[in-house]
Amino acid sequence: MVWSFPIATVRGTVIRIHVTFFLLLAWIGAMHAREGGLAEAVSGMVFVCLVFACVVLHELGHAAAARRYGIATPDITLLPIGGLARLERIPEEPWREIAIALAGPAVNLVICLVLAIVLGGVPSPQEGLMVEDARSDVLARLFWVNAFLLLFNLIPAFPMDGGRVLRAVLAFRMSHRDATRAAANVGQGVAILLGFLGLFGSPILIFIALFVWLGAAGETAEEDLRAATRSLAAEDAMETRFEALPPEADVGAAAEALLRTPQRDFPVVDGTGRILGLLTRDAIIHALRATGPNTPVADAMQEVPRVKRGAPLSEALKTLAAAPAVAVEDGEGRLAGLLTPANVADLIALKG
Ligand SMILES: [Zn+2]
Repeated sequence: MVWSFPIATVRGTVIRIHVTFFLLLAWIGAMHAREGGLAEAVSGMVFVCLVFACVVLHELGHAAAARRYGIATPDITLLPIGGLARLERIPEEPWREIAIALAGPAVNLVICLVLAIVLGGVPSPQEGLMVEDARSDVLARLFWVNAFLLLFNLIPAFPMDGGRVLRAVLAFRMSHRDATRAAANVGQGVAILLGFLGLFGSPILIFIALFVWLGAAGETAEEDLRAATRSLAAEDAMETRFEALPPEADVGAAAEALLRTPQRDFPVVDGTGRILGLLTRDAIIHALRATGPNTPVADAMQEVPRVKRGAPLSEALKTLAAAPAVAVEDGEGRLAGLLTPANVADLIALKG
């Protein structure tokens, strides 16, 4: 995710913080400072950090359950609205999805139990209602925040964990795609309800409603992508009509090609048809400014990931997530086509 940077790595999972999280922290600090000065500001910010530590533990709960089924979690991103664990893939077996989805809320339940033991009982709900008041007992407030995270995530609607459980339960009776649609529809219904309540109550509800709506929509889009690419090979989606540059060409010639064609990125291909690298529009512009039009394309091009023609499209797309294009090679290692985000979008539009 853009605008986020890594803070720690736990068993192969990189924990990243989104910059907007610091905006939240600064805002909380400023709000408390206005009421009670520096001491209040510090305790308010410490509390936000404690809440986010609970969110990280929740996401690590998902990651630990996924690891049991051999699924890695490359990263967890902390946003002001909570955490986002990106699993390498979603298990097709409904029981496994249920176990992974419930592992997060289970962590909040454990935290609640531990806090209740430390506090010698369940703190009164009044203390929970004062979550924005820095003076009430930190542990009591932390208890109620975890109780909220537990219940909120169990709402049976996407993108909450409960939505995953609902999808998995529905997937016993219908296709994965229909189950996703149904759970996403429930999610958007919940979003409308939350937004409506927000109009009359707390504006924070409108914010949460927006997050729920976008999350539900994103889940459907991802499932459409999976459905469209299932059983397809890389060559089924590749672009085959494009202009390539020879390695001896210079950046001036590349700039001409950029103006002459609708293409933005150019594969650099040698005399035998093998791809050497990819020259992007940004690299052409940068090279023109930095070293001039006589710069050899070989100095400005970048590495390009390669897949074989028959490779599953889903694998190629994973590579495409981190590169501007993926080269599709034939059996002899010659360039057969290019996969770009644009032709993948066309494929989804045609198949969806
Ligand atoms: Zn969760």
